[in-house]
Amino acid sequence: MMKTEPQAASSAQYGAGPGDAGPGAVECDSCIGRKHKATNSCLVCLASYCEDHLKPHYQSQAFKKHKLVKACADLQEKICSQHGKLIEVYCRTDRSFICYLCTMKEHKGHETVLAEDERNIKQNELNDKQMKFQQRIQVKQKKVQELKQTRESIQTLYQAAVDDNEEIFTELIRSMEKRCSEVTELIRDQEKANLNQNQQFRNC
Ligand SMILES: [Zn+2]
Ligand SMILES: [Zn+2]
Ligand SMILES: [Zn+2]
Ligand SMILES: [Zn+2]
Repeated sequence: MMKTEPQAASSAQYGAGPGDAGPGAVECDSCIGRKHKATNSCLVCLASYCEDHLKPHYQSQAFKKHKLVKACADLQEKICSQHGKLIEVYCRTDRSFICYLCTMKEHKGHETVLAEDERNIKQNELNDKQMKFQQRIQVKQKKVQELKQTRESIQTLYQAAVDDNEEIFTELIRSMEKRCSEVTELIRDQEKANLNQNQQFRNC
């Protein structure tokens, strides 16, 4: 315990300045006014302390049994309200986070796992769900894309039919016009021949 003291003193001197508890950092509960960044939390005091304010915990016998952990926010939520111990266990039977004393008392015989493991499992399940959700979106997007492509190919198909139809009829009209003028020419030729024949009869 004595070992940590000089280190704490020096880093308080050179390191943490006043009011440097940045966003997300845990603030010291003992600092008045501008709060220093807390380095440790005490599970007995249910408070967090900066290096300076942590000193009594190392120096005084009164704090000998206090359990210190790395500074953490939401300290109240990490402590069992019944036993004042760190919540380290998850009871699957009751779906609640409990302390080790709970496992020996109210939750005796229940199915329990380490809280850390349960959190990891929950995190994995969450990641899984997010991944599946992402996949579902991708499948939907693909379907929309396919539908769009189908629509486009149907449109292309019908446009081609319209183009073909117009082309065929243009061709048909052209050939009928040609046939028409051919027939006209034929009639005219026959008319001419007939007239010539008639002329010859009259000359006789
Ligand atoms: Zn402080
Ligand atoms: Zn304490
Ligand atoms: Zn408990
Ligand atoms: Zn239980």
